[in-house]
Amino acid sequence: MTETAGTHEAWAAALRAHGRRVTKQRLAVLAAVEHHPHSPAEHILAAARQDLPELTAQSVYVVLGDLTDLQMLRRFEPPHSPALYETRVGDNHHHAVCISCGRVEDVECAVGHAPCLTPSWDKNARPMTIQIADVLYQGICQDCQRTQKLPSTSEQQEINKGE
Ligand SMILES: [Zn+2]
Ligand SMILES: [Zn+2]
Repeated sequence: MTETAGTHEAWAAALRAHGRRVTKQRLAVLAAVEHHPHSPAEHILAAARQDLPELTAQSVYVVLGDLTDLQMLRRFEPPHSPALYETRVGDNHHHAVCISCGRVEDVECAVGHAPCLTPSWDKNARPMTIQIADVLYQGICQDCQRTQKLPSTSEQQEINKGE
């Protein structure tokens, strides 16, 4: 594990700010997610165990849930996939998921300039204060396009419009 002392300190400070103790378990989970963004709990457990072999699956699930509630981790669930976690929070970025292999890429959406945070409400809707726009793009990654004869992007866009 190679994250800098600075990263660890920032995590420790954030944990304390939320009234949580700074534990080896929490730091190991944060480090594992940092190194394996967009990973399911199972992979995070395997990675965190390299740092902390005594870590149990149960405690990883508890820590992931808690850190997600504290918004120190972001959790998202692509269709047909377990929930994925990442440490990149608070910037309203979006995700593109390959519907063939499950590969995930981040898609930028700059804070404060995010047009998707200003929805145009239907006239019957009761407007809400929007905090995050969790946009999920679904497509076919380049590797899958190369190795499989999959429908071209125009057809794929038709499918996605139905979402
Ligand atoms: Zn793919
Ligand atoms: Zn992401």
